[in-house]
Amino acid sequence: MADFLPLEIAILKSKGASDEILEKFKELGISSKESFKIVGDAQTLSDITGLTVTNAIAIMEWAGIKSEDPQCSDSKLNSGGNQQPIVIEDASVIRCTHCDHKQPHDYKTGDLCPNCGKQAQTLATCYWCYTSGTGKFCKSCGAEFVKNIEYEIAVLLKREGVSKREIAKELAAMDESEKESRLTQLRTGRY
Ligand SMILES: [Zn+2]
Ligand SMILES: [Zn+2]
Repeated sequence: MADFLPLEIAILKSKGASDEILEKFKELGISSKESFKIVGDAQTLSDITGLTVTNAIAIMEWAGIKSEDPQCSDSKLNSGGNQQPIVIEDASVIRCTHCDHKQPHDYKTGDLCPNCGKQAQTLATCYWCYTSGTGKFCKSCGAEFVKNIEYEIAVLLKREGVSKREIAKELAAMDESEKESRLTQLRTGRY
């Protein structure tokens, strides 16, 4: 049976395998990188050789065997015994538009923010498909919601044939006087 190359022994030593451990390897027939595949995982390597788990993980990694992250399996165990699964923060987390406070899990549209007492999300109506919703974009058609005062102008732009994606951009580019004149147009019934 082949033995470890001097280079491999140097690497193993740098990863915490003492002479005693190397002797143990020999005893067990661990004599090449391949042998670690038979061992299978760092915990087993630690159990049979007396290496610390940390060193065993380092050696297994060097041998090209990915160890399962012990923290990872821990959290799996924890969430299994827990009623509420661990919620990883993602786009579905609702935050108050006024104070950025994270809303409780049972949050429903229209609820007041427990932190600042204002309505956490203001209800907007889509100028494009007239669906009501919260957040920045219409869940029905994907158009970007606009401020209430700009809503009428947005509807106007839509009638003029401006595309859905361009409306929010045009509104952002408009100055106040331009918005005013647009609203005047609407009120005087030119459209
Ligand atoms: Zn708030
Ligand atoms: Zn819409």
